[in-house]
Amino acid sequence: MTIATHSFDALMNITARPPVVFVRGEGSYLFDDQGRRYLDFVQGWAVNSLGHSPPALVAALSVQAAKLLTPSPAFYNEPSLALAKALTEKSCFDQVFFTNSGAEANEGAIKLARKYGSLHKDGAFEIITFDGSFHGRTLATMSASGKSSFEPLFEPKVPGFHKARLNDLESVKSLIHAKTIAVMLEPVQGEAGVWPATNEFLRELRALTEQHGLLLILDEIQTGMGRTGKLFHYEHAGITPDIMTLGKGIGGGVPLGALLATNKASCFEHGDQGGTFNGNPLMCAAGLAVLNEIAEGDFLKSVAETGLLLASELQRLSARHGLGGVRGEGLLLALDLKRPIGSDVVTAALKDGLLLNSPRPDSLRFMPALNLKREEVAEMIEGLDAILTRMGAARCVA
Ligand SMILES: *Cc1c(COP(=O)(O)O)cnc(C)c1O
Repeated sequence: MTIATHSFDALMNITARPPVVFVRGEGSYLFDDQGRRYLDFVQGWAVNSLGHSPPALVAALSVQAAKLLTPSPAFYNEPSLALAKALTEKSCFDQVFFTNSGAEANEGAIKLARKYGSLHKDGAFEIITFDGSFHGRTLATMSASGKSSFEPLFEPKVPGFHKARLNDLESVKSLIHAKTIAVMLEPVQGEAGVWPATNEFLRELRALTEQHGLLLILDEIQTGMGRTGKLFHYEHAGITPDIMTLGKGIGGGVPLGALLATNKASCFEHGDQGGTFNGNPLMCAAGLAVLNEIAEGDFLKSVAETGLLLASELQRLSARHGLGGVRGEGLLLALDLKRPIGSDVVTAALKDGLLLNSPRPDSLRFMPALNLKREEVAEMIEGLDAILTRMGAARCVA
């Protein structure tokens, strides 16, 4: 019935989607138009930090929707002032610019670094980024990304990005020239398959960038807002970056991103940056509701604990099925399948009512709600165990 009642033809066909239409979500579960229930370990791609339609977020959105949607970005509004204040109080940054997506926040970070270069470093504009990195799908952020499948696309690219290797300081040093203005990285490469920068590497990068008068930009669109067990991942390394970008989890399911900068780096002048919906009260009210929950009490402690539980359960599965182990931090984890069966596992899981993600053929990525329950970890592990057992058995027969 799904296929009969819906026409898929009017949407641009930009990715392979299963023929399932979701109509409702609640916590860790999604429901399709046939009333089937799915346990969701994708959560909108690490977006729904508090799960599907959490009451606090629904309440904040409905109260704000009835009050004020958009006065114009050229006027102040209360939710954006409150969210900017809260974010700066809870981070090492002094100023915030709100965006509608992660890519737009990164685009802003790149512009801010170039502006800084034009003001303070003789027009330096080059930014060192990393192999395997993902920073978004605008032309500049695709150019900044180190994703090999992006390389042939939409030429010519925006110039000025040079790729170093993650956790290899020498590869960064060799790319520093007079025209370099910044180093930009994800503290855990998410789309590449959950590859963490070590805390030592982050500290070395901070020292190196300081020594050369370069800005350090952290793309925390996937790692920020509690995902790895601290409010921001840079806290694990004990460093203070100059610029940080947020997206995904900051809105808890609605389109919101943010560009944060220290006073030193925050150098936009009138006319440099803007956008019609930037800092609109509706999205900022959502962001405030999410931040209030995440930063409250023992929430982050429980993210770290649930992350350890999930990691140890995955490790157990890995040992049982002869897989390659677990990577990541907090509730951003990957299981190394050792074989290119990722998409087969994802397809089998969907049939069983379990939503998983395979960022590369040989791994699965787990990015559940941050308030995931222990029983939901157990339910996912049981489902995945059954799938791996079936696939292992099929492999033995073959
Ligand atoms: C998802 C993501 C982006 C892009 O965010 P969009 O909201 O899709 O534009 C950029 N950087 C990282 C690390 C991401 O995970």
